[in-house]
Amino acid sequence: MKFAKRMESLPPYLFAEIDKKRQAAVARGVDIINMGIGDPDQPTPKHIVDAMHKAIDDPSTHNYPPYQGMKEFRESTVKWFEKRFGQKFNPDTECLSLIGSKEAIHNCIFATIDQGDIALLPDPAYPVYKTSTMLSGGKPYTMPLLEGNNWLPDLSKIPNDIAQKANIMIVGYPNNPTGAIAPIEFYDEVIAFAKKYDIIVLSDNAYSEITFDGYIAPSIFQAKGAKDVALEFQSLSKTYNMTGWRVGFAVGNEKVIKALGTVKTNIDSGVFKAIQKASVAAFESPKEVIDKINALYKERRDTGVKGLRDLGWKIKEPNKATFYLWLPIPPTFKSSTEFASAMLDRCGIVVPPGTGYGECGEGYFRIALTIDKKRIEEGISRMKKEGLVYAQGACSVK
Ligand SMILES: *Cc1c(COP(=O)(O)O)cnc(C)c1O
Repeated sequence: MKFAKRMESLPPYLFAEIDKKRQAAVARGVDIINMGIGDPDQPTPKHIVDAMHKAIDDPSTHNYPPYQGMKEFRESTVKWFEKRFGQKFNPDTECLSLIGSKEAIHNCIFATIDQGDIALLPDPAYPVYKTSTMLSGGKPYTMPLLEGNNWLPDLSKIPNDIAQKANIMIVGYPNNPTGAIAPIEFYDEVIAFAKKYDIIVLSDNAYSEITFDGYIAPSIFQAKGAKDVALEFQSLSKTYNMTGWRVGFAVGNEKVIKALGTVKTNIDSGVFKAIQKASVAAFESPKEVIDKINALYKERRDTGVKGLRDLGWKIKEPNKATFYLWLPIPPTFKSSTEFASAMLDRCGIVVPPGTGYGECGEGYFRIALTIDKKRIEEGISRMKKEGLVYAQGACSVK
């Protein structure tokens, strides 16, 4: 058998590797606390499931769906977007339904990156940005996200010749894995940069609704002129506990939408029509639905932050968005993977090492708050018992 060369350039998909380790531990009888995967543990809200039941009984939903999405779906998305962010989009030319944003990010990179083209990518980041760039034959250029710059890329550090050659830039706030947020001024800066260098901006806004403490996350389209250069991915996955349903949408620049649509038409398919109808019910949800989901994450965030502070972690301010905590590994550990291994082997806790999100993730690990508060407390108490604490000079080797 011979496989494509491009396969060799790919690291193993991070979560698949972690899951293998987790399964081996489960097989050994370990009571695993899985803080690894950003997959909501709560069910999809009932009114959405009810809408799905109704839709699936209607045979007209059973055949191939239109690639760009049903008119009803697209009209409902742009209406939701306008209500939420105050920005209008033409449902026929500036909006597409997606089988989840992961696939769409890949397809969009495929549509914009030729062999040797440069993609400006954040690091640490959602791994798909880099792997899809590599699969497309492109060259990732790393924009480091550093705590000192509030986990925002410093655009002034991108060399002029790189910027001139770059085709796309990807940004994503509220951010996975860092939990950081971006102010509108940041998007203004991104848009100005993109216009100067003729770059397409892809904004991954999967966590726009997972926010706390009164914070409301913006869209890149609230920055002036964004429609000239940008496309935004929205996903129902995290917002409505719908990761398994595979549904999202993109809005943005007409030409970029068209290019993404062309790749989609040739490679993937439309979203199951019954799911599109259920999504319309999701977009029409009363505000309380999301408030309830966020109240649960906030409680877990506060539990995690309090517990970790007790173990010596210096957390200045709990993050205002996403269901992640991004934390430095204790200084007594040499690497993120060494710390993640210790967490699994000694505490039965699965956490991804920061390096799973890129080289700049070295020295960090991520906690996903997608488990019960009681299990977070249990995890903290196991860490305490095993001495996996932040304090300088704490024991790391047993
Ligand atoms: C979860 C996630 C996505 C993908 O969501 P889909 O289920 O594919 O819609 C995209 N970007 C980030 C940063 C995510 O964390």
